[in-house]
Amino acid sequence: NKTILLKSRPKGRPETTDFEFKEIEKPTPKDGEVLLRSKYVSVDPYLRGRMRDEKSYVEPFKLDEPIASAVVAEVVESKNEKFKKGDFLTGMMEWKEYQVSDGKGLRKVDSEKAPLSAYLGILGMTGLTAYFGLTTIGEPKEGETLLVSGAAGAVGSVVGQIGKIKGCRVIGIAGSDEKIDLLKDKFDFDAAINYEKTDDMGKAIRDAAPDGVDVYFDNVGGYTLDAAMENINRFGRVVHCGAISLYNETEQPTGPRLETKIVKKSLKLQGFIIRNFEDRFAEGIQQLGSWLKDGKLKYEETIVEGFDEIPQAFIDLFDGKNKGKMVVKVY
Ligand code: NDP
Repeated sequence: NKTILLKSRPKGRPETTDFEFKEIEKPTPKDGEVLLRSKYVSVDPYLRGRMRDEKSYVEPFKLDEPIASAVVAEVVESKNEKFKKGDFLTGMMEWKEYQVSDGKGLRKVDSEKAPLSAYLGILGMTGLTAYFGLTTIGEPKEGETLLVSGAAGAVGSVVGQIGKIKGCRVIGIAGSDEKIDLLKDKFDFDAAINYEKTDDMGKAIRDAAPDGVDVYFDNVGGYTLDAAMENINRFGRVVHCGAISLYNETEQPTGPRLETKIVKKSLKLQGFIIRNFEDRFAEGIQQLGSWLKDGKLKYEETIVEGFDEIPQAFIDLFDGKNKGKMVVKVY
């Protein structure tokens, strides 16, 4: 039974040497517990923040202790009447092949309704992030222009499609030509910008959005946010979801001063964490599931195979190796 510990706090870009594999005993469930075998493990950019020794909305990971993320696991033995052998559960679990749990904070998922990996993406945290971030903060209206960065990723690809459902003109920003094709061909974006091949992002956005941007859903922060702000319309909304371009920076860069623009254009800028919407998750999953069933939403996954690949899959997020949700399939 293997586990993955945080060996050292990454300096800049995480390295595989920041993680340690350790062989531990396979636990035995006590009364009220289940023995779980990890099947799919989610790797997410926000875990980078928890590797820092900083106060935040979640506790930092402790050194020499297991890392945890969202997992789908199979019940292989049950001493808890709520769950039976063969059930699949999801929730926050440790990076371990086998672990026991009393079931608190875990929910059953149905492999007949959707592939199990989907409960970590489109029907999990990233789908919900897209749905609540865009609809409650972005408030897109028919005929408006929506710009989204990190557009070919787990959150971004769903944001763009919900924008289309709401009747917006949708423009995505992503880091490769293959991703640009995916946005236009599979997800039906109206336009897409490859930031890796663009020197002047402000101009590229202006060309793609001649009427300006009404809603900017920001997954990356940094100079992309600055360029989006050059093009934002009066009464525009900026949804601050994440800032992956800054997560590995050792010194935070500064940007242009925006306060007069925010006032003059009556802008709304708001950040959020998905946990704020916890009491509405059932509604979100219901809506996402129904759009999926009707073919209005599509999703993409990058599935890496093998427990030993978890750290590398996490690191690869920062090189854009994933299209859609990055998930590790353990068995
Ligand atoms: P993604 O599936 O989007 O994966 C990360 C992607 O980010 C990569 O594929 C890569 O795509 C892009 N990227 C990596 N480095 C950079 C960089 N330096 N500059 C620009 N883009 C970069 O991950 P998620 O969908 O899970 O997360 C997207 C964002 O949403 C993150 O910022 C994350 O922290 C945030 N988030 C926030 C939540 C909240 O509650 N507020 C919840 C979940 C996620 P490319 O090839 O296009 O560069």
